[in-house]
Amino acid sequence: MFEKILIANRGEIALRILRACREMGIQTVAVHSTADANAMHVKLADESVCIGPPRAKDSYLNIPALISAATITGADAIHPGIGFLSENAHFAEVVIDHGLAFIGPKPEHINLMGNKITAKDAVIKLGIPTVPGSSGSVEHEEDALKIAESIGYPLLIKAAGGGGGKGMQVARSPESLKECLYLARNEAEANFGNSEVYIEKYLDHPRHIEVQIIADSYGNVVHLGERDCSLQRRHQKVIEEAPSPALNDEERAQIGKLTAKAVAKLGYLGVGTVEYLYQDGQFYFIEMNTRLQVEHTITEMITGIDLVHEQIRVAAGAHLAFKQSDIKFRGHAIECRVNAEHPRTFMPSPGTINDYHAPGGLGVRVDSALYSGYKMPSYYDSLASKLVVHHPQSRNECIMRLRGALDEYVIGGIETTLPLHKKITKAQSFLNGEYDVHWLERFIGLDQ
Ligand code: ADP
Repeated sequence: MFEKILIANRGEIALRILRACREMGIQTVAVHSTADANAMHVKLADESVCIGPPRAKDSYLNIPALISAATITGADAIHPGIGFLSENAHFAEVVIDHGLAFIGPKPEHINLMGNKITAKDAVIKLGIPTVPGSSGSVEHEEDALKIAESIGYPLLIKAAGGGGGKGMQVARSPESLKECLYLARNEAEANFGNSEVYIEKYLDHPRHIEVQIIADSYGNVVHLGERDCSLQRRHQKVIEEAPSPALNDEERAQIGKLTAKAVAKLGYLGVGTVEYLYQDGQFYFIEMNTRLQVEHTITEMITGIDLVHEQIRVAAGAHLAFKQSDIKFRGHAIECRVNAEHPRTFMPSPGTINDYHAPGGLGVRVDSALYSGYKMPSYYDSLASKLVVHHPQSRNECIMRLRGALDEYVIGGIETTLPLHKKITKAQSFLNGEYDVHWLERFIGLDQ
C-alpha cells in the first residue's frame, strides 16, 4: 500500500480524499495556490506545498510544479481528484514516468474516452447502444444535411473534446443547421482547443442515468448501480439521486450488467462512470468519465462502499474487496450541489463566509471545505458544498430528511443556491420523481 499520497486538487474533493487516506493510515501532501494558503485542505493535510499563483493554469494545472512537489515530499502516488488534471492522459503518463503511481485509469483509457467520437466508436464495438447520429466528426454542411435527413430534427451538435455541458448547439431545421455547425465548431475550438464536432439526435425527454463501475487490475469489474442526474441547468448537474425513480429492478440489473461487461472487455482499471440518456425504456450511451465523480457520494450512501478507499486500493494493485453478489442497495440517497452563486441569476458569488452552520443528524453528510471566516476565492469553480442525505427506507423519507437539512443549513456572507434546492424539493414533479433533463430549466424559467 502507498505510504504518502499527494492530492493534486483543492476544495471539498481534496478533503474527501484526505479523509480516506487518514482512515487508511496513509500520509497526505496538499498542494495549493497562493490564493488557497488558508484553505481547509491545506490545514488538514500532513504536509503542504505551494505550487504557484492563483490562476489554475499556473498552479493546479502546472505539471512540473506538481511533480516537483511530489518528489520533494517523497510521495509515492498522486490522486488527481476531479476536474483539473484528472482526465489528462499526458499528466498520468508523466506521473508514471517519474516512478509514481497515478490513482486513476491507464493513460490509454483516459485518451480513448477523452474524445467523445473515439469513445462512441469504442463502446459500439463493446455492444453498448449509443444515441443515433454521425459515425465520426462532421465538418461540412452537406455532410450534416445528409445525417439530418436520416435521423431527423431536432439535432444536437456536440464537441468531441467537450465537457462541463459546454459546446452544444441544437439545430431544429435545415435552415439553422449551417449556423449551428459554425457556432458549435467555434465554441469547441475556443473552449477545448479542438474544433471537431459530431451530431446526435436531440432527445426531447430523456433522463440522465449513469452507472458507477470499479475495476481492479485482475479483470474483476463490479457495478455499483445507477445515479439519476437529470436535474440539470445548462447541462450541468444540480441534484442527483440514487437509485433512479424511473428504473425498475430489471432495467437496473440489465444496464449495470451490460456496463460492467463492456468495461471488463476494455481492461479498464479504477473507478469510472458510464453515462447514458434514457428515454422510452431505451438506454443510449453519451460518454464515459474516467475518474471519480462529484456525485459518487450517493452511491457510497446506498452501497456502504467507500469509493475513494477502493480506488486507492486497486491503484496499489490490490484485488477488489467485493464481488458483484456482495453489492446490496439500501434505501435512497440525494445530493444537492450547493454553489456559491446567486440562486436566481446564477452569477458567481465568492467572498468571506461570516456565518456557518452545517446540518447534521442521522443520514446527513456534508462534504464541504467551508468554515466560518473562510474567504472563498474567485478563481475556481463555484461548488461550495455537497449536502448528501440518505434514508434506509424510502425516497419520500429521504426527501423529508433533505428538506430538514436544507432548512438547517446556514452559509452567511455569500449568495448560495440553497434557496433553489429548497424550492426544487417542494415541487410536485420532483416529489413524483417525474422529471427529465429539460425539466429544471423550465421550472427555473417560471420564476424569472
Ligand atoms: P458534457 O461532457 O459536456 O457534460 P454530455 O454528453 O455528458 O456532455 O451531456 C451532458 C448533458 O447534455 C446530458 O446529461 C443531457 O442533459 C444533455 N444531452 C447530451 N446529449 C443529448 C442528446 N443527444 N439529446 C438531448 N440532450 C442531450
